[in-house]
Amino acid sequence: MRKLVLRYDQAFWRGSDFGWLGQTDSPSGLSVMDCSDLMDKLCVLAVFCGGTAAMALEGLSDEAALAKVMDVIEPILGPGVRNPVTVVQTNWTDHPWVGGGYATWPKPWDTADPWAPMRASHDDLHFTGAELASVYPGFIEGAIRAGHETAARIHDGG
Ligand SMILES: Cc1cc2nc3c(=O)[nH]c(=O)nc-3n(C[C@H](O)[C@H](O)[C@H](O)COP(=O)(O)OP(=O)(O)OC[C@H]3O[C@@H](n4cnc5c(N)ncnc54)[C@H](O)[C@@H]3O)c2cc1C
Repeated sequence: MRKLVLRYDQAFWRGSDFGWLGQTDSPSGLSVMDCSDLMDKLCVLAVFCGGTAAMALEGLSDEAALAKVMDVIEPILGPGVRNPVTVVQTNWTDHPWVGGGYATWPKPWDTADPWAPMRASHDDLHFTGAELASVYPGFIEGAIRAGHETAARIHDGG
């Protein structure tokens, strides 16, 4: 997964056919979405490059990756997309902890519940987080549920 956050002075795509989300088949795995605030005070597009799209960018510098992404999203959003005020790019593809994705998988694989030590409290310190969820681990839904599960354990004295 590689993600680019592009901030603009204005949400120039308002009123266009773009709507809020664009996806491509070439390469597949690239989506660009409007992540601006409701008042358009912060005008932001986020580009997610996963799977084939991330592989197409493999080994490229941030600058080269940005240039390639611009070539893909300009037909969707028009030439204004090439003038962001700021660009923040994050690349998880070589991250040693996440193995290319953006959520952490526990090891060793042959342990029944490798997260168990994180679910136990240590000196009354309790952990929670998306990865600890019993369902939807690695997603927002998992983060919320893990919070509820940890709160319930504290409530039950666990
Ligand atoms: C590129 C990308 C795309 C994603 N897409 C989706 C999606 O489409 N749908 C979906 O459901 N999920 C998606 N996720 C996953 C989702 O965002 C995460 O699973 C979720 O946000 C994790 O929530 P969390 O509360 O466990 O951790 P986080 O959201 O990571 O929160 C941890 C917080 O702790 C703070 N922190 C860290 N260390 C300290 C410290 N020492 N002191 C104080 N604060 C600290 C961090 O700054 C952070 O704010 C995506 C994630 C990424 C990276």
